[in-house]
Amino acid sequence: MARKVLVLGEVRDGSLRNVSFEAIGAAKLAAEGGEIVGVLVGEGVNALGAELIEYGADRVVTVEDEKLKQYTSDGFSQALLAVVESENPEGIFMGHTALGKDLAPRIASKLNSGLVSDVTSIEEAGGNLVFTRPIYSGKAFEKKIVTDGLVFATIRPNNIEPLAKDESRSGEVSSLTIEIKDLRAIIKDVVRKASEGVDLSEAKVIVAGGRGVKSEEGFEPLQELAKVLGGAVGASRGACDADYCDYSLQIGQTGKVVTPDLYIACGISGAIQHLAGMSNSKIIVAINKDPEANIFKVADYGIVGDLFEVVPMLTEEFKKLKV
Ligand code: FAD
Repeated sequence: MARKVLVLGEVRDGSLRNVSFEAIGAAKLAAEGGEIVGVLVGEGVNALGAELIEYGADRVVTVEDEKLKQYTSDGFSQALLAVVESENPEGIFMGHTALGKDLAPRIASKLNSGLVSDVTSIEEAGGNLVFTRPIYSGKAFEKKIVTDGLVFATIRPNNIEPLAKDESRSGEVSSLTIEIKDLRAIIKDVVRKASEGVDLSEAKVIVAGGRGVKSEEGFEPLQELAKVLGGAVGASRGACDADYCDYSLQIGQTGKVVTPDLYIACGISGAIQHLAGMSNSKIIVAINKDPEANIFKVADYGIVGDLFEVVPMLTEEFKKLKV
């Protein structure tokens, strides 16, 4: 059944986040030949419409207002609900990011719709769209079908391939003007805690440190390796609790859930709560001086050794490959 599917493009620091393109890739499967309408909400976002079209949207609707400059659930839900009302879609897709996790349930409840959250793959089977999502902290996967009503899903970053960018594609970028009612919360300032560089939840390569890193300075070799690989630095809760790094880097059950192509765990024992956040990474490399460490049970490649010797060696070797 051909469906019209809305895809919310997520903007950070003036650029579209990669998960927006992955959500279009997912929407393409769900649209089954129907129209894909990109949606951009914010201030000064019109110019990004063309990029959503290059990645597969057929056209784009934008809602611009100075009250939407910063994300608030109140402001963005007013904007997105107005687009839903004017477009009457059969599907809505967005990233399973901090924004998507906050906004999607609110929209679903306002529309009295179901929501399939944290989707890692979509396939066609027996005439149904089958959504796969991890449960029990990634220890099992469940498959869901939407039997009727709106097909509404949030997509986990780094799992569904975006469509290839096609700069020859063109489509209409139109604006919807609505009156944003006074917001109940106003964001005055955003204080960044995470380090500059690649966003942890979208990184293709993560170099993560645990208590074995031993100090804040101990993270420096990991930062160097991450830089050479174009990746991000993450951490176990052990390292965060010991004050070696900020909690915004924490990966695991009570931290971020990540699925990079390559996860390099340095001085991390592999507690179940840590595995919950990274065990679905495509390739896991573990560096630990204890050959019995639990992390080796999930690792594709294990290096038994001192991370302060191994990590700089890896950095040097990767540097050579880049020359
Ligand atoms: P440790 O377990 O102390 O391991 C350090 C490892 O470093 C050891 O294996 C050691 O052999 C190795 N090592 C030491 N020196 C070196 C060296 N020089 N070279 C190489 N290896 C070395 N944890 C998370 O990570 N994320 C979560 O989200 C999370 N949520 C939790 C939620 C709850 C409710 C609870 C109860 C716990 C949670 N935890 C979480 C904590 C978790 O149980 C572990 O305590 C924590 O993951 C341990 O961190 P670690 O592996 O860095 O430290």
